[in-house]
Amino acid sequence: MKKFGEIDLSRKILQAVTEMGFEEPSPIQAQTIPLALEGHDVIGQAQTGTGKTAAFGIPTVEKTAEKSRHIQALVLTPTRELAIQTAEELNKIGKFKRVRTLPVYGGQSIERQIRALGRGVQIIVGTPGRLLDHLHRGTIKLEHVQTLVLDEADEMLDMGFIDDIESILEMIPAERQTLLFSATMPAPIEKLSLRYMDHPQRVTITRENLTVPLIDQVYYETRQKFEGLCRVLDVEETGKLIIFCRTKRAVDDLSASLDARGYSAGGLHGDLSQIQRDRVMKKFREGRIDVLIATDVAARGIDIDDITHVINYDIPQDHESYVHRIGRTGRAGRTGVAMTFIEPKEYRQLRLIMKLAHTKIQRRELPTASDILE
Ligand code: ADP
Ligand code: MG
Repeated sequence: MKKFGEIDLSRKILQAVTEMGFEEPSPIQAQTIPLALEGHDVIGQAQTGTGKTAAFGIPTVEKTAEKSRHIQALVLTPTRELAIQTAEELNKIGKFKRVRTLPVYGGQSIERQIRALGRGVQIIVGTPGRLLDHLHRGTIKLEHVQTLVLDEADEMLDMGFIDDIESILEMIPAERQTLLFSATMPAPIEKLSLRYMDHPQRVTITRENLTVPLIDQVYYETRQKFEGLCRVLDVEETGKLIIFCRTKRAVDDLSASLDARGYSAGGLHGDLSQIQRDRVMKKFREGRIDVLIATDVAARGIDIDDITHVINYDIPQDHESYVHRIGRTGRAGRTGVAMTFIEPKEYRQLRLIMKLAHTKIQRRELPTASDILE
């Protein structure tokens, strides 16, 4: 395996990577960074928590001219929280080179973003909607963009985002470099992506198992999910945990119910204001709440290093959602536990998830009342 020093990186980038505590490149980094530095378009697929951000971030920052005040790279992400987190990581990579990255996302004051843009930034990490808003206002110009990154590429090229993405692509020079990263890449989406790329090099670290082997995966079958969840929370030794629900309403209901039982939980979904979203993420990161209850808005990309458990209170709608949700734990070589609650009639759906994600989810019995008293 190549060391960072053996990849053709400038001293300032190496210094930043060392300061970030990265000793060796992860496999996806070792393979994709050199390709991206050579100018290839790249499709990179590797399991959750394996360092894909730096895999595109390091070459992107390396290629950015710090002297120029033009926006030279654009990273698109599906959620606001992920835009913020990714911009932070790129700013760390660009610290010594003095390359500045700005997140632009909906819910934050656009005037504030315009002022920040006025101070000069070279890389934008954005969610599509807000970015389009800036493009229409002329407050962001993409004519000098050389690198386009789609993080969580399959999500970005899925139906919900595709029109926005196409409008954005029209504003970027055709001779750009395009980098696509995700842990999952359904075949039809990959095929579609070829329309936006030029002879891409494909790097796949995962072939069979889409999930991380360090995550212990279990399921509970019960008709009384709430009681079951409370029992599990009472007996299980947990650090931080994320509970996923299917709908915003279900997030609110479960937050209220857990609150009433005395658990310190916070809810996250798309109907909350950005201030509320930021507040709950901050509390969760800082450990002032242990439980985050969320819709799939938190399924992709979120990197919080001490999440020990992910609980699917509602079964994910497809195997991609399952892979990304449980990938919030077991990151960067740590272990984690993923628990899925199902009602008896949902077993077929669970089996399909296992089959498509090439993974085994073990049945476990709920703790009994006597387990809780012990
Ligand atoms: P992914 O996008 O593949 O899910 P991330 O880019 O969010 O993963 O990285 C997961 C975690 O691993 C982050 O906390 C990141 O700082 C850390 N990390 C990334 N690359 C390395 C490395 N080479 N050495 C050690 N830790 C790393
Ligand atoms: Mg990621």
